Amino acid sequence: MKSNRYLSFIFIILSSLTLVACNDDDKSDNTSNPSINNTPPSSTAPNVPEYIISENYQLDQTYLSPNQDARQMMLVLHYTAIPLEETLRRFMSEEYAVSSHYLIPEQAQNSKFIVYNLVPDDKRAWHSGTSYWQGNRNLNPSSIGIEIVNLGFPETDELVPLMQRRWYPYASKQQIEVLAEVIKKIVNKYQITPSRIIGHSDIAPGRKFDPGPLFPWEQLYREHGIGAWYDDETVNFYRLYFPWKDDVQSLQSKLAAYGYDVPQNGIYDDDTKNAVSAFQMHFYPKKYDGIADVETIARLDALLEKYRGQQRPTL
Ligand SMILES: [Zn+2]
Repeated sequence: MKSNRYLSFIFIILSSLTLVACNDDDKSDNTSNPSINNTPPSSTAPNVPEYIISENYQLDQTYLSPNQDARQMMLVLHYTAIPLEETLRRFMSEEYAVSSHYLIPEQAQNSKFIVYNLVPDDKRAWHSGTSYWQGNRNLNPSSIGIEIVNLGFPETDELVPLMQRRWYPYASKQQIEVLAEVIKKIVNKYQITPSRIIGHSDIAPGRKFDPGPLFPWEQLYREHGIGAWYDDETVNFYRLYFPWKDDVQSLQSKLAAYGYDVPQNGIYDDDTKNAVSAFQMHFYPKKYDGIADVETIARLDALLEKYRGQQRPTL
């Protein structure tokens, strides 16, 4: 009995030593572990990540399915609504549980323009919250988030209708130029399509209003080829020949076809109004009261034709 207990004790000690060793392996940076670095690469799979190599099975990577794309499918733009220092403080604090991949300050400091990269592209940043775009819900796992320092509107305007809020303009030409360069690199790297470069307000209408009606969507398109924008000629065609006739059902189905989360009930309810307003802030920034008109829907039709495969109706 006594020797058995002694053997059990030895066994427990040995087991826990093994466990500690396993944990060390899991935590360690493989580059600093010579025993892992010296593992000969498999001849059939030279690019197998080291953590997948096993003595018990062989990983076959000779079949590479073409049915794949980057997980970074969307690019979501935000304004911070608070100054740079406070944004950094919150992004570095677990208490706030918010972050973004990139943060663009208002201007250069000491003649250097710093762009903060707070979360690596392949990790989730917590910037979208409850959100939807083009069939995808809760976009943190599938998006890159960029926060741009801009205060939005004064706190006292919180309950004022959107069009009466005193929106702060974006700080500098340099801020937008730097933003454009960051966006281009991301879009090229992950092949993000134009209609998936969107604002927080597009993916959470009524809940979020950033990057706001003063965000220069049109300028980014015209000067940098970034994002989606309608062709004037196509808008003219729809405005002239197929003007919207107050049909709420068709308005809702067009907004949904472009990407918005909007009910399909034929009723001009708050959710519909919020989606119209989000669309207008992005594509019709002179009017974002959420009330659809012929111009709003002509622009929406033009975008559907250009980016979502809508067939032009015959005259
Ligand atoms: Zn936001």
